[in-house]
Amino acid sequence: MPEIRKLLVANRGEIALRILRSVREMGIRTVAIYSEADRDAPHVRFADEAYEIGPPPSSESYLLGDKIIQLCLQHGVDAIHPGYGFLSENATFARRVREAGIVFVGPSAESMKIMGDKLSGKQAVKAYGVPLVPGLDEAITDLREARKVAQEIGYPVMIKASAGGGGKGIRIVHEDADFEPQMERAVSEAIKSFGDGAVFIEKYIAAPRHIEIQVLADTHGNVVHLFERECSVQRRHQKVVEEAPSSVLTPEVRQAMGEAACNVARACDYVNAGTVEFLVDEDLSFYFLEMNTRLQVEHPVTEMITGIDIVQEQIHIAQGKPLSFKQEDLRINGHAIEARVYAEDPRNNFLPDIGMLHVYRTPKGTGIRVDDGLIEGMEIPIYYDPMIAKLIVHAETRDAAREKMVRAIQEYLIVGVETTLPFCRFVMRHEAFASGNFDTHFVAKHYRPELLDENFDAEEAMIAALVADLAYNGDIHHIVHSEEAHPRSDLSAWRLNRRR
Ligand code: ADP
Ligand code: ADP
Ligand code: MG
Repeated sequence: MPEIRKLLVANRGEIALRILRSVREMGIRTVAIYSEADRDAPHVRFADEAYEIGPPPSSESYLLGDKIIQLCLQHGVDAIHPGYGFLSENATFARRVREAGIVFVGPSAESMKIMGDKLSGKQAVKAYGVPLVPGLDEAITDLREARKVAQEIGYPVMIKASAGGGGKGIRIVHEDADFEPQMERAVSEAIKSFGDGAVFIEKYIAAPRHIEIQVLADTHGNVVHLFERECSVQRRHQKVVEEAPSSVLTPEVRQAMGEAACNVARACDYVNAGTVEFLVDEDLSFYFLEMNTRLQVEHPVTEMITGIDIVQEQIHIAQGKPLSFKQEDLRINGHAIEARVYAEDPRNNFLPDIGMLHVYRTPKGTGIRVDDGLIEGMEIPIYYDPMIAKLIVHAETRDAAREKMVRAIQEYLIVGVETTLPFCRFVMRHEAFASGNFDTHFVAKHYRPELLDENFDAEEAMIAALVADLAYNGDIHHIVHSEEAHPRSDLSAWRLNRRR
């Protein structure tokens, strides 16, 4: 059994800090790495040891696998946690880490390779009777042949890059006349973004929900699932609001999806934590989409409803320990919702916003968790994902969790950049979300920037501002009244965050 005494987190931002915290609780020495842009970042200050690894661009820092391995050997590090993004789904990196005698907190390189490619993933799970989205399960290059396949599947169809991820490399084709140009574009984009031009065609499910299952598998053959996460509120095919449990699954469907997810894990001999993504249609039929072989951004909602620290479980598993619980020991406790706080402008097509966190105050109170990786006064680096934080709430019921989220967003004070917070509050209060009657088209169907201001009560905003002012020792006053020092956009960000 490999004992871990010193662990390096090969990541940055909120996830690096979140992992380091759980690692320290286990009595393991913590090591951070950082780029020149992250010298003062909280994850660097938190760790027992921290090493600078290169210039800001990730290709010259956080993606330098061999350099990170060398650093580990030099400083007696015996395990690496890759977090999400960066090297987390890089099978070659996982293999090299292990070849260097270092524990990789994650699955085998082989499992990663199978599931890292959407097509080989589909092929692997087919034998286990897991339902797939109708369509091709192999790559296609011939334009005419591809068009024929699309006609057979029936429009609309989706062209997907097999190596795609993070919502990138996806194209919807509505009619036959558009097919060939879209296909050509899809292939060239896939080559450019993923270095792999393999694409395939899937039926476009008209109004699906994205529901995924968290799995844990140990080295002793035990596989369990930690129920589902509903992630249908997306922009650009990427999640912004997630919750657990889903408001639509019946106990029967939940169990069937859980079992299917465990089978997906078995299909690739999976070990460690992973996520099996499904599309679910109106009659609750579910279809396997892909498996993410890493810790997922939205894992906290699962931690809140199960009471399990998924990072600590990952480390136990990496140390060769058997899971300390069985499927029947697991229960869903209450309801959790996560809002991703991106430095993006919800009034301007969710375009990334840059700037400094002039004021940054997080909400507090029962059932509130904020996973963040920046502090007040810091510049948001332009080199990385623009996510500032994740705001997670937990309450007994879904309605109580929604109200708690609204209250927490009111209390969350960010001056300096536009964020997705006002959008997330809009989601909480929207009838479709409140009733549970929504799908992946929530944003397209229901959201318009003007709605952020609707029902905006000036008096209410003033009271909120006064409360904030008192609570935060009056320094807000200074900011609000010094338009010169702080351009208008700062003020509007401040105002927005106070609205309901
Ligand atoms: P999750 O899948 O955990 O819900 P995201 O889709 O937002 O979260 O992805 C998490 C992070 O990983 C983001 O920073 C995203 O840009 C990055 N990412 C995911 N897949 C890929 C990929 N195939 N290539 C590049 N980056 C990726
Ligand atoms: P990524 O690797 O970028 O996460 P996914 O295959 O998981 O790619 O798809 C991302 C999102 O795109 C899904 O959550 C869903 O909203 C949408 N999507 C993917 N495939 C389909 C499909 N066949 N029909 C309808 N929507 C889809
Ligand atoms: Mg996905």
